[in-house]
Amino acid sequence: VRLTRADLDALPNYVPGRSPADLARELGLPEAIKLASNEVPYGPLPGVVEAVAEAAAGVHRYPDMGVVALRQALADRYGVDPDRIATGCGSVALAEHLVRATCLPGDELVYAWRSFEAYPIIAATSGATSVKVPNDAGHGHDLAAMAAAVTDQTRMILVCNPNNPTGTALRRAELDRFLDDVPDDVLVVIDEAYREFVTDPEVPDGLTYADRPNVAVLRTLSKAWGLAGLRIGFLVAQPQVAAAVRKVVTPFSSSMAAQAGALAALAQADEMERRCALVVAERERVTEALRKLIPDVPASQANFVWLPLGERALEFGKACEARGVIVRPFPGDGVRVTIGTPAENDAFLAAAEAALG
Ligand code: PMP
Repeated sequence: VRLTRADLDALPNYVPGRSPADLARELGLPEAIKLASNEVPYGPLPGVVEAVAEAAAGVHRYPDMGVVALRQALADRYGVDPDRIATGCGSVALAEHLVRATCLPGDELVYAWRSFEAYPIIAATSGATSVKVPNDAGHGHDLAAMAAAVTDQTRMILVCNPNNPTGTALRRAELDRFLDDVPDDVLVVIDEAYREFVTDPEVPDGLTYADRPNVAVLRTLSKAWGLAGLRIGFLVAQPQVAAAVRKVVTPFSSSMAAQAGALAALAQADEMERRCALVVAERERVTEALRKLIPDVPASQANFVWLPLGERALEFGKACEARGVIVRPFPGDGVRVTIGTPAENDAFLAAAEAALG
């Protein structure tokens, strides 16, 4: 009996990275430092744990499949009608739903490469054909080449802004031109998982484009809002796109705990912003320190930095692990390092200095 699809054999697995507990045990350390998944290091926002605990009393029932209260809170915060919002089990699930809603087998999905490692998996599992457009010399999206890659078969384009894993961000003028160039019947999905860490005023808020009929904006509560473990993200698009996603969504995939936790987190926007500012200050400090070792570290607008180490990426990752710091190497390409607390970043910088200095 063949239990898997042959066409998926060559597909790489999504690698969550190794467990800090395992590494600490292996090294005989009290704990290891994880700077591999772009989480914010300051714990859940105030009130989140209590809200999730309170929701736990009702878990013998299904959650609200309409996600009414949370969609309303998101609508209030972002100034859009709740009809234009869909939630899902992380924004990665929403990206998958969008592909499911737009692409038939053989249809083309265009995205930059390197970008978020889930994109090729989503394309392949949905039967869509991946069209990967190489990043430019500055490690950012080459929007002209992406627009040129559109064919009659293209149904969707994923734009990751800021880009995971390189941290680069597109500016307003280039994104305006790109959106004007793309045919109206191609859905442009702007993945803004890291939007809250953007400080460059020239980097546009994707929501300013969400009134266009062919734009959908993906956001997550996993990063700045500190809810990675609850699995909740949302999209803002035209009502018919949001409705199409709600149609293909796996039933009840925004759990009761996730809805309650997200509502509590959204009530703590000031604290979220305060924490993001700490991360941003550390991002600038870490970037400056790293550039003494690797001059071409690109400026990051996210909560991680990219080290374009090429063939040295894997070895560098191992050297950091040997010093108790887990980072994310992309073999042959580079290493992504999440910004942690100042002490965690110091431990990483010491490991980087030892590996490269
Ligand atoms: N988009 C990008 C660019 C990401 O980096 C991530 C998380 N690594 C996601 C989406 C998915 O986040 P989540 O599913 O946790 O919302």
